[in-house]
Amino acid sequence: MSVDRADLVVVGAGTVGGWASYFAKRDGVGRVVVLERGLAGQGASSRAAGIVRAQGGTPATVALGRWSIDFYRGQAATIGTDSGFRELGYLILAVTEEDERVGRERVEMQRGEGLDVRWLSAEEASRLIPTLSPVGHRGGSFIETDGCIDPQRNVRAYSLAMQAAGVELRERTVFTGLRTTPQAGGGARVVGVETSAGPIVTDRVILTGGPSLRSVGRLAGLRIPAGAVRHTVAILEPSPAFDVERMPMIFDIGGGLYWRLEEGGLLFGWSDPDEVPGEARSINWPAVDAARARLDALVPAARGLGLRKIWAATIDYTPDHLPILGPAITPEGAPIAGVTIASAGGHGMMWGPGVARAAADLAMTGRTGVVDVTDLGLDRFDADGRSRLAADPIALPFPTSATDDETAPVLR
Ligand SMILES: Cc1cc2nc3c(=O)[nH]c(=O)nc-3n(C[C@H](O)[C@H](O)[C@H](O)COP(=O)(O)OP(=O)(O)OC[C@H]3O[C@@H](n4cnc5c(N)ncnc54)[C@H](O)[C@@H]3O)c2cc1C
Repeated sequence: MSVDRADLVVVGAGTVGGWASYFAKRDGVGRVVVLERGLAGQGASSRAAGIVRAQGGTPATVALGRWSIDFYRGQAATIGTDSGFRELGYLILAVTEEDERVGRERVEMQRGEGLDVRWLSAEEASRLIPTLSPVGHRGGSFIETDGCIDPQRNVRAYSLAMQAAGVELRERTVFTGLRTTPQAGGGARVVGVETSAGPIVTDRVILTGGPSLRSVGRLAGLRIPAGAVRHTVAILEPSPAFDVERMPMIFDIGGGLYWRLEEGGLLFGWSDPDEVPGEARSINWPAVDAARARLDALVPAARGLGLRKIWAATIDYTPDHLPILGPAITPEGAPIAGVTIASAGGHGMMWGPGVARAAADLAMTGRTGVVDVTDLGLDRFDADGRSRLAADPIALPFPTSATDDETAPVLR
């Protein structure tokens, strides 16, 4: 029987693995194989709300957001298809005095990174976005160039790009482990992967997995403190109030609630800070009522509108809400050469292409110009999954820990 060989194996055909495989192949890597246990995009990537922002809370996340927006803008010209990016503008709302203080500081940092973001007073914000109540908030930071993609169109875009570039996508094929060999001087080097369809010989692997990255890590003998938790998105029935060409998106960080236009109705999504980590299996209706009450207060035109669509899905997160980009390191601290870990930490629409580009760079050359990855590797977490970095202040209220429970089921 002939040996199955690849120059790069990518685990997971979500937006991170999909785009990473395309970037690597387009750069000239020979045989690129993507392993997907289900169907491409079937994880978090097809269920997202599509919010894309460069307004990050740290220089690294500003860089990833900008890179990804530039990529989305240039897609049609470079690959002949696109992810449906629409520039809508994004207001990150301050409700409390403290929100405003940290928000204004954040604007200074972002402007220092070259972002054309500015602070709007409550009056300016509600003049710009007439459906936003002029009371109940203190304005916020605003930039014209943030926007949204269409998550399903993005799955289509990377699937087409992979196919056109010659990436080999193997759906319904489960990654089950790494083959390694000891390295002189310590640690190990990857020499292959195990899959449900047999082994593949390779010396380069990118591990992704979104909400299942912790399970993927466990299969590889790694402890990756990536979590999974319910996140809910709903769309209201169309209303004349929202029948406008362009309306900036809004993020009420304190409430963990964001909204944007979707086909004449309002799409809104939220995370509950008290949510117990794990797979999303159902809608939490009391939480829907709480989110609607908060939305109704800030957007009076949303009051009384019926729900057209609602879904609860499992979102990925990291304890510090930052991406993971770096080499595999075993729980004993030994590196596994040739294996790169990539997670967008729950921000795969806004950072996904940047994370994917950086992962492909790291896998092939060990360095990347997309973002400074010095602090983004697995080595920032202690044995309990605690990060030594401060959390990104602009994120959904995700849980702050992602413990490695050996008995936790592998997410489907
Ligand atoms: C409801 C919701 C709303 C969201 N909204 C936004 C938003 O507005 N903006 C934003 O930036 N982000 C948003 N996100 C987050 C974003 O969707 C994710 O960060 C992103 O999709 C993660 O991409 P990924 O490729 O890492 O993971 P995934 O898309 O989950 O892909 C991982 C893939 O790995 C596969 N896999 C797992 N284990 C194995 C194995 N052993 N072998 C083979 N394959 C395996 C899975 O089947 C899956 O297809 C949202 C997420 C949800 C759930």
